[in-house]
Amino acid sequence: MTSTTPIAFSGAPLDLAENQRSASDLNAFLKGDNARAFVMFKGRFLVKNGDLVQMHPSQLKGLHLYDPGPLFLGLDGNIPQFSFSLAKENEAQNLVSGASLDHIRNIASFMDAHQLALAGRAKSLFDWHRSHRFCSNCGVESKPQAGGVTRQCPSCETDHFPRVNPVVIMLVLEGDNCLLGRGPEWPEGAFSALAGFVSPGESLSEACIREVKEEVNIDVKSPVYKFSQPWPFPGQLMMGMFCTATNTEITLDTKELAEAKWFTKDTVRAVYEGTDTSFLCPPEFTIAHQLIKAWLES
Ligand SMILES: [Zn+2]
Repeated sequence: MTSTTPIAFSGAPLDLAENQRSASDLNAFLKGDNARAFVMFKGRFLVKNGDLVQMHPSQLKGLHLYDPGPLFLGLDGNIPQFSFSLAKENEAQNLVSGASLDHIRNIASFMDAHQLALAGRAKSLFDWHRSHRFCSNCGVESKPQAGGVTRQCPSCETDHFPRVNPVVIMLVLEGDNCLLGRGPEWPEGAFSALAGFVSPGESLSEACIREVKEEVNIDVKSPVYKFSQPWPFPGQLMMGMFCTATNTEITLDTKELAEAKWFTKDTVRAVYEGTDTSFLCPPEFTIAHQLIKAWLES
């Protein structure tokens, strides 16, 4: 992946077909010769030889489906793309000889970018349905609508829309140095950009400034938005930023980070080129990797 290619999990030119989501539209799409479906079980995908398995929806007839049933992801050119979440693990695993269930995070590094974007949308939608089955207004079980892009409560008729959680992820810079941190659960040596959820009432810039202050007690100024990434683990939207430190002494919040260090641009470049082992860089499919790469190229 280069800085000119799409950020992983984005870039699928799907037509969401907002006006073609009636029951009859969806039925026609499902029966169309060119319809394709991913198969999932509890957020894992059916995978064979490193690729996601896709099949015609008719091949899934009679199997037990988990709420929300078929999710219509949209039109990929003239191909209606669906994902099916099966309720029984053995039914998923026995569908295709040699296939197995795996997390897309495990295979994202090797996957075709287009398939990865479709799978990311499928997983985000599925995770939302799974965690929002009941109406937040009255508590009655809600029902999927319009191919799974909304849910509606049959009691109070409230419409519920898929939730996306905004997260800021920022490269803190000072001269020719950048600050990277290691989370408490991360492997020894693995460092990445700092990140945190945007809080209600905050702008992206305010969230960036607050998070850096909270995690390492460093003041930053001039947050600049660079690019974003849909991150389906689960439904987050990562907003990548650069910001400039006005002081450099690190005081860790040890609940958030196990370590944080300043690294010179030369060291980071050497790590990215594979000639230095000062730290393990984030995987290429992550926005952290792309943010650091953008800084190296600036
Ligand atoms: Zn309700």
